[in-house]
Amino acid sequence: MTSRDILELMKQHDVQMVDFRIVDVPGRQHHVTVPAAEIDEEVLERGVAFDGSSVPGFRGIEESDMVMRPVLETAFLDPFTEVPTLAVSCNVYEPSGNRYERDPRYIAEKAEEYLKSTGIATNAYFGPELEFFIFDDVRFDSTQSGAFYAVDSEEAVWNSGVGDKNLGYHVKNKSGYFPVAPTDTQQDIRTEMVLELMKAGIRVERHHHEVATAGQAEINFRFGTLTRTADTVMTYKYIVRNVARRHGKTATFMPKPIFGDNGSGMHVHQSLFNGDEPLFYREGGYANLSETALHYIAGILYHAPAILAFSNPSTNSYKRLVPGYEAPVNLVFSRGNRSAAVRVPVAVVSPKTARIEFRTPDCTANPYLAFAAMLMAGLDGIRRKLDPTELGFGPINKNIYELSAEEKAQIKSVPGSLGEVLDALEADHEFLLEGGVFTKDFIRNWIDFKRNNELAPLHLRPHPYEFSLYFDL
Ligand code: GLU
Ligand code: MG
Ligand code: MG
Repeated sequence: MTSRDILELMKQHDVQMVDFRIVDVPGRQHHVTVPAAEIDEEVLERGVAFDGSSVPGFRGIEESDMVMRPVLETAFLDPFTEVPTLAVSCNVYEPSGNRYERDPRYIAEKAEEYLKSTGIATNAYFGPELEFFIFDDVRFDSTQSGAFYAVDSEEAVWNSGVGDKNLGYHVKNKSGYFPVAPTDTQQDIRTEMVLELMKAGIRVERHHHEVATAGQAEINFRFGTLTRTADTVMTYKYIVRNVARRHGKTATFMPKPIFGDNGSGMHVHQSLFNGDEPLFYREGGYANLSETALHYIAGILYHAPAILAFSNPSTNSYKRLVPGYEAPVNLVFSRGNRSAAVRVPVAVVSPKTARIEFRTPDCTANPYLAFAAMLMAGLDGIRRKLDPTELGFGPINKNIYELSAEEKAQIKSVPGSLGEVLDALEADHEFLLEGGVFTKDFIRNWIDFKRNNELAPLHLRPHPYEFSLYFDL
């Protein structure tokens, strides 16, 4: 897409505003809006200035003048504005004209460049599956914990504390997947989300209610290349949240909003191609996987504690990674097993669809950073010819939940807290620095940001459950 195409599109749809968007370090979008009358080919080339000092994770005020320059192929008509508005994702530049090294999009692009430079493959494909909850409302709770609480949907209220009670058509505990209406009350809102996603150019493959009782949903879109798929994740979250708001509801991608019910993941399907040639398939191999795929899996599992600092980067992430809720808890690979961190989908029938599914990630990840980190780990596995079986990562074919204590003792678990994975990243990040994809500054900044802005402040706050444990002690 060229600047001319954009101007043509703007004319066609009577666009009056252009919304320039960037992604901060933790993974939220920010925007500045420019009237269409101010937009010409030069502005689309050159970009617009903004103050980088108040963007979370970017630098301090001494280097506040920055530029966001549109990536034209990301443009879509924003369906939520009152006047026709074109939204476009941007790359961040320093005033000198250099790319800004803390721009997550830059890191994602560098990972793709690095892949090509290794000669291993030309393309890495990523297919993330985002799950989320649609709640009725959120309210501010003014207790000392200062937390926001979701007001559970009708379903959760009905369900709380019931055993054999007749629930009529209300979703039974952990049974949201996937009875038809009237049990599924969110069909129409999901469909509306899908239609808006499609209008924004996203190729949606299906939608369904997810397992959790209180209105959990999943909408799947087609896989794509690394950076463009991360762009899609940002647009997807924007559209899902704003369709929910249109209906007076609220959507959250928090990994574990409700204790005792399934959480929301962002499983990431991955494969490598050399031009048209798929590299993850070998007929007759374990689950028809090639040696390259097995090395890639080994790289992911070997570096998992460090990768999780990007793919599961919130304190809440670790409330999801517990047994009993289809979230992975074991650092192993397996054909079909949902408690394994790496699953090889068994419906794999053709060389082109051969892929691995890393099930650990969740939507609090910044997708640009998380995908880049996974690719770097996988490539490290290929370069060092790591063998997942020699490293004790399986394959495990039984239901892991049903293994004996002895068998279980052989299996490594996913890390249990944000603190642990930040320590792991501090100790193991050489593989991310290859080809200058991540910088030491970025990793230092990430660890400090997460420790100082999330871990430490959470630790200081009295937790609501502490009242139940200790109030009367
Ligand atoms: N919601 C589950 C998770 O936390 C996954 C369910 C599924 O397999 O789609 O990962
Ligand atoms: Mg799912
Ligand atoms: Mg999945």
